[in-house]
Amino acid sequence: MKWWQPIYRWYYRWRYRTVACEFDTDLPATLQPGRCYVAMDQDFPWAVSLQCPCGCGEPITLNLVGSHPVWKLTKTTENLITLYPSVWRTRGCESHFWVKQGRIVWARPHWTKQLRRQLYRWLRLSLRR
Ligand SMILES: [Zn+2]
Repeated sequence: MKWWQPIYRWYYRWRYRTVACEFDTDLPATLQPGRCYVAMDQDFPWAVSLQCPCGCGEPITLNLVGSHPVWKLTKTTENLITLYPSVWRTRGCESHFWVKQGRIVWARPHWTKQLRRQLYRWLRLSLRR
């Protein structure tokens, strides 16, 4: 962990605070930050994938149909999407956020906890040197 990483994460969250949506018949193999991909079957969306907006680079794929957990997707006429319920990664970065009308809305308490933990880790590592 480098000293700039918490700052980078903070910048990344700000830079990619919105997601632009793309609709296709399937999910792409590679994801771009700040983009959200919706897989469609005719007019029916069945899956969504996006790169984790925290900056960890992990892909997130959400089911819109089938077995639990399953999300509900709604979109405005300008193709701004809303996902329900929130996205909470149980592994890795443990990011917790909502996608509301194309914007990433962070679940604040967790967000600050995560950042604090990163800062502590960095401080511990730098003091050890
Ligand atoms: Zn993440």
